[in-house]
Amino acid sequence: ATAGADVDADAHRSRLAPNYAPLPVQLAWASGAWARDVRGRAYIDMLAGYSSLNFGHRHPALVAAAHAQLDRLTLSSRAFGHDLLEPFADALARLAAPAVRGDEPLVLPMNTGAEAVETAIKAARKWGYDVRGVAPERATIIVADGNFHGRTTTIVSFSTDDQARDGFGPFTPGFKVVPYADAEALRAAVDETTVAVLLEPVQGEQGVVVPPPDYLPAVRAICDDAGVLLIADEIQSGLGRTGTTFACELWDVQPDLMTLGKALGGGIVPVSAVVGREDVLEVLSPGTHGSTFGGNPLACAVGLAVVELLEGGTMQARARALGAHLHSRLATMASAGLIERSRGVGLWAGIDVDPGHLTGRELCERLLERGVLAKDTHGSTIRLAPPITIDEQDLDLALDRLGQALC
Ligand code: PLP
Repeated sequence: ATAGADVDADAHRSRLAPNYAPLPVQLAWASGAWARDVRGRAYIDMLAGYSSLNFGHRHPALVAAAHAQLDRLTLSSRAFGHDLLEPFADALARLAAPAVRGDEPLVLPMNTGAEAVETAIKAARKWGYDVRGVAPERATIIVADGNFHGRTTTIVSFSTDDQARDGFGPFTPGFKVVPYADAEALRAAVDETTVAVLLEPVQGEQGVVVPPPDYLPAVRAICDDAGVLLIADEIQSGLGRTGTTFACELWDVQPDLMTLGKALGGGIVPVSAVVGREDVLEVLSPGTHGSTFGGNPLACAVGLAVVELLEGGTMQARARALGAHLHSRLATMASAGLIERSRGVGLWAGIDVDPGHLTGRELCERLLERGVLAKDTHGSTIRLAPPITIDEQDLDLALDRLGQALC
């Protein structure tokens, strides 16, 4: 097929591996909250690349930063330094400093979310052995039921989703799973081998599950009592989505380490990072960890522009205001019986529909026919996470179409 051609799945046996079941649309162009397919049909994007497009498709400041960098230097590898690596790390550290433990956090750049999580796991284990004196090979990390932290073999080792795990063993040992939002279960699971607790402050893939307000503060206290690290996976929840820069700020909780990804690359390039306590990240001395592309010049140029977009707080305020509107409209739909329930925070919602009426997939197909891009997560749950830059009228249009699709 030529680039941009609409592929007819029956006529053309694609060479693409089948590890995804995408909705039947071929996107060819996008700007802000709107995308067009190869036939020129327009769609409102209510998924935003699983929150990678928090600032919309092709945000002018981000595209300009990428263009300028493409004309100058795209890759150095970490064998050499480059002139944006430290400026990016310093800017991200400044942005994160109020939200994370330690006055002057360090930044370790990687590419994908899963790599940031792997990096945090390695840092926590090494810190556990080198600093906490945990017996060799005994370190454990406590995670939550319903988690989603990525797809590597170590990360799926502690997934509770059978589809994510089945057939991929043997698994990496050293993880304990406790129920999400149950602080007492977590307290009971901590022992002398525990080096860290790894959690999503809001479980995105699970359907935008927001824990009760006392949960994360209780987790913080348990970690402090036991002298173990709290690692917040802010890959989907961070960078403006919840109306705060980082979701943990909703509850005034400072993790020791945060993992960031998705929107850090502005929807242009994969950029991830671990940000947090200097005395933890400094255990990763030269030679112990790395990535050919981590912190590459193009990634740093875009990441720096992303940090600048978030510095003023206007994106966060916009997510709060539009989010209030989104949640009030969803509450109206729930009382009208159109949806079973909705939940969420900021410009981020999970909605459950009656499984007897529609699956999440069927609803997303109906939405697609009506010019709305959305994705089901589990069963009859779909997630709404439009770009924070969406106009209120476009948000209303998408919600009107959702109402029609549900009838
Ligand atoms: N962590 C969380 C909370 C996520 O939502 C995701 C992706 O959805 C990941 C990690 C993995 O990120 P990536 O797909 O970039 O590896």
